[in-house]
Amino acid sequence: MSQFWSPLVHRLTPYVPGEQPRLSGLIKLNTNENPYPPSPRAVAAMQSELGADGATLRLYPDPSADRLKEAVAAHFAEFAISPAQVFVGNGSDEVLAHAFMALLKHEAPILLPDISYSFYPVYCGLYDVDYIAIPLGERFEVRVDDYARENGGIIIANPNAPTGDLLPLAHVERLVAAHTQSVVIIDEAYIDFGGETAIELITRHPNLLVIRTLSKSHSLAGLRVGYAVGDSVLIEALDRVKNSFNSYPLDRLAIVGAVAALADREHLEMTRQAVMHSRAKLTADLEGMGFTVLPSAANFIFARHPQNDAAQLAAELRQHKVIVRHFKLPRIDQHLRITIGTDAQCQALIAALRAILD
Ligand SMILES: *Cc1c(COP(=O)(O)O)cnc(C)c1O
Repeated sequence: MSQFWSPLVHRLTPYVPGEQPRLSGLIKLNTNENPYPPSPRAVAAMQSELGADGATLRLYPDPSADRLKEAVAAHFAEFAISPAQVFVGNGSDEVLAHAFMALLKHEAPILLPDISYSFYPVYCGLYDVDYIAIPLGERFEVRVDDYARENGGIIIANPNAPTGDLLPLAHVERLVAAHTQSVVIIDEAYIDFGGETAIELITRHPNLLVIRTLSKSHSLAGLRVGYAVGDSVLIEALDRVKNSFNSYPLDRLAIVGAVAALADREHLEMTRQAVMHSRAKLTADLEGMGFTVLPSAANFIFARHPQNDAAQLAAELRQHKVIVRHFKLPRIDQHLRITIGTDAQCQALIAALRAILD
C-alpha cells in the first residue's frame, strides 16, 4: 500500500500464475505447457528472421501483423474466415483483456461459470466489469439454460479450465443463439486436444468471438501469441482498444514463428495425438490407484483421491520433484490439475504417487 498508488491499484486482486521454478530437474506438470518442442519450421523461421546479426530487430514489426492474420484465416479456410475476422495479440491473455474492455464492459453484469479460468474475474476487477458466477452442474458441466438472464456478455472456456470438461458444439451454438443482444466469448485455449471449434459458427453468429492461443497445442507458451476470430465488427472494437494501448504487441520473431507454426499441420497433429494418447493412459493409471478423474478434452486432467487431501498430495509430490496445480478455491480444493507430460513424465508422476500413497 502506498499513497502513490491509484485507488484502482489498491483495489486490484491480481492473477497468480502457476510456478515457473528456477530449479532444474523438476517434472513440471503445473501450467499446461506442451511437453513436446514446437514445429521445427517455426524455429527455422525465427532463426531466419533473426539472421546472423539481428539487424531486422532495428525495425518495428508490422503493427497489425497482417501476415499472421492471413495465416490464421488460412488455418481455418474450411470455415471461410477472412483476415478481417481475425485479431492477434501478445498471448490470448492480452486478447482476453482487450475483449473485456472492448466488448464485455456494459451496464449489465457479465455471466461466467463459477469454476473457470481465474483470470476472468481479475479482468473484471481491472476494468470494473460486474459479473455473476453461474454454478456448474454436479459433474462440473456448463448448463446452457442457467445462462438465461439479462447480461452484458458471457465468457466460457471450452474445454473449461481447470476441469477439462467439454461443452459440445451444439450447446455452444444454442448459447450463442439465445443471446443475440450480447457478445458470447468462447476461450478455446485447449480445443485442439479433443473438441470441435466454434469458429465454424462465426459466419452465422455475429455476436460470437472465439479466442485461441498458440501456447498450448502449438508448444509456444514462451512466444506469447494469441488470436481472436469473430465478425469484423467485433474485431474492429478489439483493434480500437489495441491501438489505444500498444501499437506493436507482437514482435518480429513472434509473427514469423506463429505464421510457420500455424502452417505446420502435421506437427500439430502429431503432438496433439501424443498428448491425447498419454492422457488416456494417465487417466487409467490414476483410476487404478483409486483417483476419480473427470473426463478431459484438454491437455490436463482434474483428479481427486477420496482418501487423500489434495493440498497435501501436491506438497508431497513436490518433494518427489513433481509439480502439479492445486487451487485453494470452493468446490475444487480437493482436486489436483495435472498437465499431461510425456509418457516418461507421466510414469514419474505415477511412481511418485505410489511412493506417497503406500
Ligand atoms: C493458458 C490459458 C490462456 C492463456 O494463454 P496465453 O495465450 O498463454 O496467454 C487463456 N485461457 C485459458 C483458459 C488458458 O488456460
